[in-house]
Amino acid sequence: MEKKETILLGTGEEDILRAAQILQEGGLVAFPTETVYGLGANALDEEAAAKIYAAKGRPSDNPMIVHIGSKEELGGLTDTITEDMERLMEAFWPGPLTMVVPAKSIVPKVTTGGLTTVAVRFPVHPTAQALIKASGIPIAAPSANASGRPSPTEAIHVIDDLNGRIDGVIMGDSCEIGIESTVVDMTEETPAILRPGLLTREQLEKALGKPVAIDPALLEKPDFVRTNQEGQQSRGLEEGLLEGERNLKPKSPGMKYRHYAPKAEMIILRGEPEKVKLAMAEEKMKRAEQGQKVGVIFYDDQDPVRAAHDFFAQLRAFDKTGVDVIFAAALEEDGVGFAVMNRMIKSAGYHIIDV
Ligand code: AMP
Ligand code: MG
Repeated sequence: MEKKETILLGTGEEDILRAAQILQEGGLVAFPTETVYGLGANALDEEAAAKIYAAKGRPSDNPMIVHIGSKEELGGLTDTITEDMERLMEAFWPGPLTMVVPAKSIVPKVTTGGLTTVAVRFPVHPTAQALIKASGIPIAAPSANASGRPSPTEAIHVIDDLNGRIDGVIMGDSCEIGIESTVVDMTEETPAILRPGLLTREQLEKALGKPVAIDPALLEKPDFVRTNQEGQQSRGLEEGLLEGERNLKPKSPGMKYRHYAPKAEMIILRGEPEKVKLAMAEEKMKRAEQGQKVGVIFYDDQDPVRAAHDFFAQLRAFDKTGVDVIFAAALEEDGVGFAVMNRMIKSAGYHIIDV
């Protein structure tokens, strides 16, 4: 890929207009949202959207989320707006909710990863909203990281991964939420969570007044790489598909790829907090004796919202200091904890030790 100059932009009006112009001309601009930084392109321009895959090194069957600047713009992307969709829009838009809906034919296959559905979100972040409004087009934007790397929650993360590969970055603050949006499939009678996020199943069910399913692929974990303290510790991680997932068919294509991986080996320790603390200290000593640098992720308060905010940034910080191995304490897998653990487990390539 040809190296280009990446312009660093601020969040002022002039810079937003400049960024909007780049998007209108078919270029790529990264921008802050409340979840993570997004890498934007004109969602309705096949050539522009294709550049995103090239810049990120993203597999082309991994569809992108289309970002809009008002609820009304949903009608430009789909012919089907159900009562359930209206309810979720009313409750959670603008915000960290992505709805998968039947796509109109004007949405190119490049944007939908070849699917007949399109994922749509109306972000609440003022800079994201200003950019979408100024450009006057729906913006396809996956997370603005190199494919496979932890999602970017600060502008510097975007620069670290994509400098010289994209046209511009809007240098905003660090993202408030820190994990990607909750993705909900709205094409079936029972809506289903395809990717967990800050908005939980309980919140969605309350807004809809009916049950919400969870894509079974989110609950299955390949057993063969899971280990106990004495057992085998194979990571089972290859570039691309996770081996144990070859037979799983997640409805959200992006969920099947290797994700969020730090450069270091990562291991999750799961159990009572006191036991996990002890095991961490032990492992730390053992590794230090072998001359290895160890990073530790432990949330004293077990607060999953704080964990969501910090997790990806912590992985990247450890990459910068050059640790050899990261030990992370598991969180309770309910509510927001389910969403954070979904990322943690992928980062660790399913390497979990029960203590
Ligand atoms: P990212 O933008 O990098 O956060 O990834 C977008 C996520 O949304 C991926 O996991 C995709 O698989 C998912 N997604 C996007 N469009 C669709 C769709 N039409 N159907 C199902 N999942 C989708
Ligand atoms: Mg992503």
